[in-house]
Amino acid sequence: MINIDFNHNTKEFYQSLTMINIEQALKIILAQIAPLRPEISPASSTILGTCIAEDIHADFASPPFDKSIVDGFAVRISDLEKNNWELPLGCEIPANVNGPIELPLGTTAEIMTGAPIPFGADAVFAKEQCNKLGTRIQFESRKCQKAMNILPMGKEYQQGELLLKAGTKITPQRAGILAACGKTSVMAQPAPRVAIISTGTELVEANMKPKGGQIRNSNGPMLVALSGVSGALPKYLGIAGDCKKNIKELLTEAESSDAIIFCGGVSAGKYDLIPEVLQESGAKILIHKINLKPGKPFLFAISAKGKPVFGLPGNPCSVFVCFHLFVAPAIAALQGETNISPKILSLPITESFYHESDRDTCFPAKILIDQFQAKVKPGKWFGSADLKGLSECNALLLCKEGVTNYKAGDLIQVLVTGPHFFSPSFT
Ligand code: AMP
Ligand code: MG
Repeated sequence: MINIDFNHNTKEFYQSLTMINIEQALKIILAQIAPLRPEISPASSTILGTCIAEDIHADFASPPFDKSIVDGFAVRISDLEKNNWELPLGCEIPANVNGPIELPLGTTAEIMTGAPIPFGADAVFAKEQCNKLGTRIQFESRKCQKAMNILPMGKEYQQGELLLKAGTKITPQRAGILAACGKTSVMAQPAPRVAIISTGTELVEANMKPKGGQIRNSNGPMLVALSGVSGALPKYLGIAGDCKKNIKELLTEAESSDAIIFCGGVSAGKYDLIPEVLQESGAKILIHKINLKPGKPFLFAISAKGKPVFGLPGNPCSVFVCFHLFVAPAIAALQGETNISPKILSLPITESFYHESDRDTCFPAKILIDQFQAKVKPGKWFGSADLKGLSECNALLLCKEGVTNYKAGDLIQVLVTGPHFFSPSFT
């Protein structure tokens, strides 16, 4: 457990917070984050990924009546033997039939998938098991048990049953459950609003042609995209440059959001002004520098208004790695998720892999499906500035500091970053 004295926000204090590891950093961050206050939200795609804050009970049983699970013919089993497995058609039951229907004795009813079983019937033959001879139905298959092809009322759930507990994350299937229970609105944690600020006087936006020492701001759009796919509502506030006044102004504007992301300006250079500005604005810096490659200068603070502030080192791969390790879990915590654990798999590596570093390393890699088996291939990557190498990857190899030496086929730990569906053709 790391002992943090929140009253000592001096330069010496945050310098003393150097080189903690990923797990320690995540612990410190999550300890500072409370779920957003739930509000009534439309039960539409906007709540996907957030957690509901109320229990959802079934208003009806499902199915609400005994129903057929096939298109076919409903029978009384006792009619079959005595009529030599052939019955006249008595009636037709479509899925939207209104009111109770009784199966006339000695007949069969043509029934559609999902339609209610008529009174008296106790089995359904699938259409493929029958021959239609004019108005008579011949049952080819002579195998029939009671309740064959019938889904009994309440088999899925009973009226009043608890279907989704408060705190459950809304997935597409659960959005379906909400609709099945007639819930068009629900108490839920809102999507966190995340403010994104780029720093760096060398930056110009993507629509500009860089001159001299300028480069384009690739992190801004990448962070907007990362925040969006993590379930947040990103608000891009622009490039602050390396100007204290601009950074302060944008920080003030950002404090109306639920979380703030700065990129660049957190390492040791003369113009890395974020730690200074944060201190002067009354923020508490809780993390500065971690045992991580790429991403060593990572910073985490709580702003004067109590908002979590992430200072991501400016190199694009550091941004990507620190976002996955620290910002995405924080967004999940703001959304009310309690069981936050990174998506780590143990996968066989496709080739021998040697890596040496004095820091724990997240090495870009590609998860592939080969002969129906997931494998991981190290990417072609030369370091924290290599956005092109990173863009060809969908995962990060987790290597402990020191020497990492694997043979092809060895299992290695992999953090999944997405896209989340892999096909052999993913290149
Ligand atoms: P910094 O963390 O500010 O020292 O920046 C480290 C490196 O990342 C420098 O080469 C910056 O030019 C680059 N960088 C910083 N911010 C961005 C950005 N928004 N987009 C692309 N590169 C950036
Ligand atoms: Mg900079």
